[in-house]
Amino acid sequence: MIVKDWCSFCGECAGVCPRNLIVVKEYNLVFNDEDCRECDTCVKACPIDALEKEE
Ligand code: SF4
Ligand code: SF4
Repeated sequence: MIVKDWCSFCGECAGVCPRNLIVVKEYNLVFNDEDCRECDTCVKACPIDALEKEE
């Protein structure tokens, strides 16, 4: 995932990941990409479009 500069670290995306792969840590988003199922739930949950899937 690519996290855009305007991410506010609100944690919405972390709250919706069915596999709990996202952690908000001191103004960083940490992804456990290895287990990601690319369901896009986190991308859709971000209210300000700050997440983008890496191609
Ligand atoms: S939901 Fe969007 S703004 Fe909030 S922490 Fe996730 S990427 Fe950042
Ligand atoms: S795409 Fe799905 S599995 Fe991967 S981090 Fe986002 S919500 Fe979690």
